[in-house]
Amino acid sequence: MTKIQMKTPLVEMDGDEMTRILWQEIKDILLTPYIDLKTEYYDLGLPHRDETDDRVTVESAEATKRLGVAVKCATITPNVQRMSEYHLKKMWKSPNGTIRRILDGTVFRAPILCEGIVPYIPGWKQPIVLARHAYGDVYSAVDEELEAGEKAYLVIENEKGEVRRRLIHAFDGAGVVQGMHNTDASIRSFAHSCFRYAVENGIPMIFSTKDTISKQYDGRFKKIFEEVYEEYRASFEEKGIWYLYTLIDDAVARVVRSEGGLLWACKNYDGDVMSDMVATAYGSLGMMSSVLVSPDGKYEYEAAHGTVTRHYYRYLEGENPSTNPMATLFAWTGALRKRGELDGIEALMTFADKLEEAAIATIESGVMTKDLSGLWEGETPARSVTSAEFLQAIRAELDKRL
Ligand code: NAP
Ligand code: MG
Repeated sequence: MTKIQMKTPLVEMDGDEMTRILWQEIKDILLTPYIDLKTEYYDLGLPHRDETDDRVTVESAEATKRLGVAVKCATITPNVQRMSEYHLKKMWKSPNGTIRRILDGTVFRAPILCEGIVPYIPGWKQPIVLARHAYGDVYSAVDEELEAGEKAYLVIENEKGEVRRRLIHAFDGAGVVQGMHNTDASIRSFAHSCFRYAVENGIPMIFSTKDTISKQYDGRFKKIFEEVYEEYRASFEEKGIWYLYTLIDDAVARVVRSEGGLLWACKNYDGDVMSDMVATAYGSLGMMSSVLVSPDGKYEYEAAHGTVTRHYYRYLEGENPSTNPMATLFAWTGALRKRGELDGIEALMTFADKLEEAAIATIESGVMTKDLSGLWEGETPARSVTSAEFLQAIRAELDKRL
């Protein structure tokens, strides 16, 4: 069999711990035997980030701006414990945060669905894709404790030094106050990323805030989304999909009652809370894929989960873990399909489709990793296998399809 040829390389961002092991196995077992894999390789593993003073993270994001499509392995975000574990020079920032800042992107998370793995909300037949705004609000707020007798004001000063001031509250007992912000530019690029995603994937979209209470703040989000939607209205109509703005509480009710198959765009905090709700309701973290999309159409694919540290420590002790590689595999197929689409390589797109089908068929045949076997409601009993055995089983399914 001749291998599929690529034109433009993918930006390959390697990572840490258990997912770094899966990364290599996925390439060896399922990709390089079939594709003449072209990548520009960046090692975002923590030791190399430390060696390069984290320059490698910035370079990989810049490469993504240049080449358009990246695939990323999960990476450690250092904390105090990691400082000593890896003898780090500095507590480097979250790579995802750095990449998101450079690409100015929005993260979309979607579950991978299989027959036999029943969501906790059984009415959900299609994926619910969650888009979370990743800038501002309470995540960059300032807050302050107050004592009885103190007054809190909202003070705004323009370039001429003129001041507007509004009383927030006059405290007759102790309390707290918080100030937060967002920018039109960030809201606007969030809106573009969401509408673009809905059109490209042909799914309807809900955007929710609480503008009945937060009239100016959330009202601004609503208004900017309405404006930006006008640029996409024709494409929505052409695809037969709809856009609905609604209140967050109404959105929750609609989403729970729905069959899925929609994009739900959320403000930063709502997205933080709701993405965990959606991921949990679908079953396993190992089945959530994720893509960062910039407003100018650059893509970075990854798994939604972390480096699965607990499994890695067991692996270091000689155990052969049963870590689910699905989300990482779907990061690769997502990136390869997008690369194929952009470069007009039909064979690459077909390969990505077949590989995903083979992976899903493997699970549907009852062969799966441990995280899934507890959720299995298929006819045949589930067979729990190691990650490598699972990838080999996918390969056998793939070969049937090629
Ligand atoms: P995690 O790696 O997502 O793992 C948490 C737990 O979820 C695991 O212990 C495991 O449960 C289960 N799990 C997650 N992915 C799984 C998979 N593919 N297959 C089977 N089970 C899976 O989160 P964490 O332990 O909080 O974080 C570990 C490291 O990852 C941290 O250093 C963090 O900074 C980093 N992180 C990176 C990213 C990213 O790069 N996008 C995201 C989140 C966290 P059981 O142990 O019960 O089997
Ligand atoms: Mg969270």
